[in-house]
Amino acid sequence: MCYAIPGKVEKIEKNTVIVDYFGEKRKAYNELAEISVGDYIYAQGGFVVNKISASEAQSILSLWKETFFQLQEVDLKLSRLHLADKFTDKKLLEILDKASQSKELSRQELLYLLELKDSRRLELLFKTANFLRRKYHKNSCCVHGIIEISNYCQRGCQYCGISYHNKELKRYRMTKDEILDAAKEAVEVYGFKSLVLQSGEDRGYSVDELADIIKEIKKKYPALIFISFGEIGINGLEKLYQAGARGLLMRFETSNPKLYQDVHPGMSLESRLEHLRKAYYLGYLILTGGLIGLPGQSKEDILNDIFLAKEMHAEMFSFGPFIPHPHTPFSGIKPAQAEEVVKVLALARIIDNTHAKILVTTALETLSRLAAKSGLLAGANSLMLNVTPLAYRPFYSIYPNRAHQSEDIASQIESTVSLLRSLGRAPTDL
Ligand code: SAM
Repeated sequence: MCYAIPGKVEKIEKNTVIVDYFGEKRKAYNELAEISVGDYIYAQGGFVVNKISASEAQSILSLWKETFFQLQEVDLKLSRLHLADKFTDKKLLEILDKASQSKELSRQELLYLLELKDSRRLELLFKTANFLRRKYHKNSCCVHGIIEISNYCQRGCQYCGISYHNKELKRYRMTKDEILDAAKEAVEVYGFKSLVLQSGEDRGYSVDELADIIKEIKKKYPALIFISFGEIGINGLEKLYQAGARGLLMRFETSNPKLYQDVHPGMSLESRLEHLRKAYYLGYLILTGGLIGLPGQSKEDILNDIFLAKEMHAEMFSFGPFIPHPHTPFSGIKPAQAEEVVKVLALARIIDNTHAKILVTTALETLSRLAAKSGLLAGANSLMLNVTPLAYRPFYSIYPNRAHQSEDIASQIESTVSLLRSLGRAPTDL
């Protein structure tokens, strides 16, 4: 999805095009040869994905036009901010007032917000983040599709249900044809404009095989491709970029090097960060963040995580709760609370007002069925739908009972669109 309303090319300057969407102008990077002024295109994540005919574009736009402005009205209503509440907590009001004016908050102020517990105070925090989301990002909500191509993994992350710790798991690896079929269905049948290809660290595919799959998807089913295969090496990043991948989804999981080492035996935070830095340097869009609720993680750590995601130039923040898996060393550890995660999303929006999109993760939705709505009303503006073939989904069990695990693509889209409409959001990536 990310239905990505078609836009009209107004201007071309070298590889950059200026695109008009109902009067709003956006820049996009163009790698297609055949684009001219006056053409209609789809763009995703700042990249032109494909061109469509004027007649097709105009019929889509005429359907969208009225809805688009109606949605903006609903969003405007829901994101109004009244900090002049009868509220007695003067300190909180002062901090949120500062945040709402996009003034930088001190660490102490941010930690104060992270420590909030009381529901009325939290509501004000969430409203402030939602106000900032609308102010800088308007009502668009990015909806990517994710294909989980393999659950083989050579890593021993202590929390992860597809790590080598899980001896009970039936492993699968989709064939190239199966991956292409899943991409075809997502793009051609359901209109997704961006796809994440994810797996454990599976050396069962060579980098050349992955590159070949990406090239073929790009050629046949135009979409913005994100890779999420773990640490594939700098050479791997380069090869997959050349093949056409333009985004990297890789959480650093925690910014605390000691905690990182404890929960990821044999791995180092520095190596993970080196991949992220190199990927950014190569031109990848970076989707990164961390796990909330790891044992021993402090509020200071979480704050550092948000700053680190920003430092890594995150195009999208991905922060989600830790949920215990019974066949891992962390089986006995309590899951994070949904509210704590929503708080992190709100803080992320306050720390990065203008740039990053913020994802509501499936893990958060697994903790609470209302989480997508709560997250979207607390600064978030992105969702990811599972477009992996239904037969494989139960085996990608990074944690148990994942939300939407047995929902087909059509019904995930239906419920997402209805949620987004109720909140005045458009499933686009403007
Ligand atoms: N191998 C790739 C990598 O290393 O980024 C992608 C696959 S990995 C399974 C995807 C994400 O799942 C990780 O970044 C991690 O944060 C998340 N994850 C794994 N186990 C989890 C758990 N028990 N609870 C919540 N999230 C989990």
